[in-house]
Amino acid sequence: MAYEVLARKWRPQLFTDVVGQDHVTQTLKNAIETDRVAHAYLFVGPRGTGKTSTARILAKALNCQKGPTPVPCGVCDSCREIMAGNCLDVLEFDAASNTGVDYIRDLRDTVSYAPARGPFKIYIIDEVHMLSPGAFNALLKTLEEPPRHVKFVFATTEPQKVPATIISRCQRFDLRRISARDIVQRLAEIAQAEQVDIDADALLAIARGAEGGLRDAESALDQLIAFRGKKIQESDVLSVFGLVARRTLESLAEAVLKGEALQALRIVAELDRAGKDIQRLVQELIEHFRNILICSYAGENITGLDITETQLDTLYAQAKLTDPARILRIVEVLTETDGRLRYTLSKRTLFEMALVRCSRAAVVVTLEQILEQLQSLQRGGPGPAMMVTEAKASFAPAAASQPPARAPIRDEPAKAVAASRAAPTVDDSDPIVKLSRNWHEIVEKVGHVASLAKTYLLDAKPLRLVGNHVTIGFDPEFAASKDKINQIPRGPRAVQRAISDTLQREVTVDFMVLDAKSTLPGDFKMQSVTESPSTEADAPPAAPLPPEPPKTGAAKNRQEWVNNPLVRKTLEMFNGGIVDIRE
Ligand SMILES: [Zn+2]
Repeated sequence: MAYEVLARKWRPQLFTDVVGQDHVTQTLKNAIETDRVAHAYLFVGPRGTGKTSTARILAKALNCQKGPTPVPCGVCDSCREIMAGNCLDVLEFDAASNTGVDYIRDLRDTVSYAPARGPFKIYIIDEVHMLSPGAFNALLKTLEEPPRHVKFVFATTEPQKVPATIISRCQRFDLRRISARDIVQRLAEIAQAEQVDIDADALLAIARGAEGGLRDAESALDQLIAFRGKKIQESDVLSVFGLVARRTLESLAEAVLKGEALQALRIVAELDRAGKDIQRLVQELIEHFRNILICSYAGENITGLDITETQLDTLYAQAKLTDPARILRIVEVLTETDGRLRYTLSKRTLFEMALVRCSRAAVVVTLEQILEQLQSLQRGGPGPAMMVTEAKASFAPAAASQPPARAPIRDEPAKAVAASRAAPTVDDSDPIVKLSRNWHEIVEKVGHVASLAKTYLLDAKPLRLVGNHVTIGFDPEFAASKDKINQIPRGPRAVQRAISDTLQREVTVDFMVLDAKSTLPGDFKMQSVTESPSTEADAPPAAPLPPEPPKTGAAKNRQEWVNNPLVRKTLEMFNGGIVDIRE
């Protein structure tokens, strides 16, 4: 038996088989059931989304010998002829291959003849926008007064090229791009039936490559089977499509979110060497950050995101690396870059510049935040720690692992308060700061011993150190992670080991869940309580601030200014130092 391509073999036979177009198929089913089928339909949508398949199912539904019925039997002569494409009552025409004047003329001459077998004569015209103006005119005459036994189904990818006079005489349906999730599911069904061994990442890669067209996805699977046989991996798919592995894409995003521009550039260099399409990469990155943005806004109640479960975990973890405003900024930068890439010769350079800007955007303090924090300080309200917490940045930039120089701030308000300084002033001798900075590495280290523990630790952060006891905190939404980590054999022990190694002294470790309402004690959700008195560089106590700064004009020496809580908070906020005191 001759080989039949998958897209043909698995063509949907019933309305319920059509993937991702329920809004169309349900309406058609209802129309058939209630005998309100329009005399002309226009199916609009990208290629491979099921337009002609739906048209043929509609034809079967109308002409099935048990019909008209929303569920054509598939076995009667009529159904089988339509499936085989040799039914005399269903006349398909592809306007892309012929301008159609002769066809339409012929159609006009024969349209009034009764159908050969079924109750209806059904004309299906694919890519109808390609008809010549003459053909449209001829068609219009028939559309204005169609015989009762005639139905038209037009399909097009470019509705704007279809004359309004035609569109206005049709019932229009817009078929959507099919979600990656639906495509993955459908491909998995096909692969299983065809006994093809293909993993989830590979399926997802095909879906990404097909960009919402199921037929393209099915053709790609065909191609891959021909290329690789019955065992297909993600790398096979990536090489066929020139796509970037999902994990590489995720690590690129992570580098950007952590402000690690150098790491991002390294990844780009690798991808460039492998000959990946930069434009495509930028678009996929935009999509990824958009998904992160949605995750960070939607929290747990996520809906309508076109991704699989595996991706979701990563998205949530990455959403926690910074706050939504910064992700929005990253999306803006990348979108702008996407537009400019078409016109540039050195795509890689432009992309690299964009990534550096994105990395900075991920960690730089925004002007709004500065103003908000200043106002808050003047009101004697919560300090920067709480502001940052409210902004959902669980890790403030200064506390993130390998923080970049924090905000070379150019805005005037900043200068007015304190001159910016290039180097960060986070005190590395503070053990908790040290843990926070090295948290990523600590988590990685734990992962080597107990990989599951690593997953849960990503949701945690070092909270405080009292004596030789370190407390690791989980946000309330990750309360379950706390229990789980304690249940992992070697889990807690691995954490203790990694932390002791980092601090270069033996410590004990416990885990706690933070109170939903209260923020953590201390700045940036962290606090060290050591035996030795705090050094000058330590974070000031989070106790209520005296609302009033020293009165202007009063004789104050430098030390008094330095000790003033408002001044200290401000210096800390900007990573600043006092250059001059004017009264
Ligand atoms: Zn039938």
